[in-house]
Amino acid sequence: MAETIFTKIIRKEIPAKIVYEDDLCLAFHDVQPQAPIHVLLIPKKEISSTNSISKEDQELLGHIWVLIPKIAQELEIADSGYRVVNNCGREGGQSVDHIHFHILGGRPLAWPPG
Ligand code: 5GP
Repeated sequence: MAETIFTKIIRKEIPAKIVYEDDLCLAFHDVQPQAPIHVLLIPKKEISSTNSISKEDQELLGHIWVLIPKIAQELEIADSGYRVVNNCGREGGQSVDHIHFHILGGRPLAWPPG
């Protein structure tokens, strides 16, 4: 897959407000927050979208879902509640072709989404 801006963030070639990092994943504040708390959690592996997840990514995706509540706790939105969003493809609203999970909170979030 083609490299995206997120690869540059992983390599620290462009700055980001990082809230969590390990060997497999990085979480950082979204540059255009849609809620008081808006963090993106990404795997360092370049997977272009949910459509490109393969069986070998099972453990990595499980790791991501274990991290989400820990990061939400760290961001102090775990108790009030939050939303995890993965946009896939153009009609799904995906604009960066490196799989990512939005963690949004800090205000009541409307449903259904637009
Ligand atoms: P998508 O629309 O693909 O689901 O989400 C991509 C997200 O990446 C958007 O919310 C956008 O604001 C965010 N984003 C795009 N470029 C950058 C960047 O350079 N830095 C940060 N921190 N976020 C970015």
